[in-house]
Formats: sequence, C-alpha cells, structure tokens
Amino acid sequence: MFYEGAIYRPPSEAGSLILQITVGCRHNACTFCSVFKDKRFRIKSEQEIEEIISIALAEYPDAERIFLADGDALTVETSVLVKILDRLYRSFSRLERVGIYGGPKDIRQKSIEELKELKEHGLNIVYLGVESGSARILKTVHKGVTPEEMIAAGQKVMASGLLLSCTVIIGLGGKAYSQEHAIETAKVASAINPHYLAGLTLIVKPEAPIMRSVQKGELELLSPLEALTEIKTLVEHLQVTDCIFRCNHASNYLPLKATLPQEGAMLINIIDKVIQSNQTGQLRPEGSRAL
Ligand code: SF4
Repeated sequence: MFYEGAIYRPPSEAGSLILQITVGCRHNACTFCSVFKDKRFRIKSEQEIEEIISIALAEYPDAERIFLADGDALTVETSVLVKILDRLYRSFSRLERVGIYGGPKDIRQKSIEELKELKEHGLNIVYLGVESGSARILKTVHKGVTPEEMIAAGQKVMASGLLLSCTVIIGLGGKAYSQEHAIETAKVASAINPHYLAGLTLIVKPEAPIMRSVQKGELELLSPLEALTEIKTLVEHLQVTDCIFRCNHASNYLPLKATLPQEGAMLINIIDKVIQSNQTGQLRPEGSRAL
C-alpha cells in the first residue's frame, strides 16, 4: 500500500488494513496534536479511492477489518462513503468490520439518518477524540467545539446504533487544572455514554504547538503519580453503563483496563495501591512512552 505522509490509526485498529480516503485533518488546529501538521487537507477523488481499493485488494484480499483514514474521514459525503463501503464489502469477501475517525464537526454535519445509513452499509465504529470535557481546556487547546457540542456529537453517534469509541487525554489540563479536567471530562463522557472510552496520557512532541505553553511554564506536565490520580478521579466520576475503559496505550504509565461500572472499584483499588506505595518502578519509564 502507498500512503501520503505518515498514517495514524487508533490502537485497537492495529491489525486493520488502513485505507487513506482523505489526507490530513480538516480541523488541524489542536495544539497538542502534531500528526497531520505537514499535510494539507484534501478528500481523495473517487478515482483515487478506487485505485487504492484495487491495490489493497491485490495485496490483502483476506482483510477482515478495514480502517478509513486520515484524521476525520467521516467528513466525506455520505453518498460517497456509502459507495466506498459497498465496494469494500463486495470486494473483500472476509470483511467483518469498518472503522473511521470522526471529528465532532463532521458528526454535527451528518444527520442521524445519514449515520444510520452508513451503519446499514457496513460502517461499524466511529472514533471520536473528546480530549477533555472542560470548556476552558477545550478552548485552550483549540479543539474547536464546546463540551455541549461534543456531547451532542457523541450522543448522535450513539443514537445511530454505530459503535462509538471516545478518547480523552490524561494530563491535558496540566497540574493547574488536573482535577477540573478529570471531573468535567467524566461529565461529558457520562453524558455520551460511549461503548469504549480510552485514556491516552499527554506526550508533548517538540513540533506540537502546545510545546510553547510548556516552555513558557503555562502548562506544567503531570508526574506519573499525578497522572494516575487524575485517572482515578475520572473513573470515580464516570457514570456510564457497560463501557469498556482502556488506559493501556503505550503513552500510559500504568496499563489499565476495566468494564465500567462493574469493575470500577477494582480499577480504583489498583490505582490506589500504586499511588500509596509510591512505587514508580512498576510504571512505564518516561523514555518508553510513545504515541
Ligand atoms: S487531534 Fe484530531 S481533530 Fe485535532 S488536529 Fe489532530 S487529528 Fe485533527
């Protein structure tokens, strides 16, 4: 397969065939994100997409999972996405599941009927970067939406019957707003009540605009134990049903996974033991963390 620039996909799509139907991210303004800064956003033409599918089919005819990239591929017109989905299921005889990144603005532009139509044509899961539930933090990091707009986007996906996986970023409020970040993020995640909730821990890349805030002392990064305390507060305030919560990405200091609310007490117990023992030796070393 050939791709334009580096390709990013959710951790749970590690085994999927990645098809790049858009290049970059239309929003491309989040200060913590550097992944698409070198790409000018564009939607690939239907002819380009057809060529990509033909190449992919020749190389990976047995693909069971496909992920549609780049950053907010859900921005593609619904009628075009339907054609792509139909073509994929016609061509890949073992295809079981198709996933896609969807920004809150893309979701806002689609009706529930359009999302349902995508589901009927084989789209299974949408990945939404919630990042924070704090209005202050969302504004500071230029996410481009309010908590209310984020909730509306998430609820719309849930109402469509598609699976929804939300991501939040531990440490995004720094030391000053750690508790606010945890509590407000729990409120937004609870209002959405997604099927999956993933916590990544902030890693500041030199090329990300947020680096300037760190250098100026405006954003003080959390220590590993402070990050765990933030996760604990988040979990304590979450009110979700049958939500698979994962903090086991390579960016996290301590791999955590639980179904909430059923395993919430167990999760808090694990975090408490590490915090109280102050044993940072069992945490992932700073140099081994990765995005
Ligand atoms: S975090 Fe997502 S929406 Fe924000 S710039 Fe990066 S890819 Fe785009």
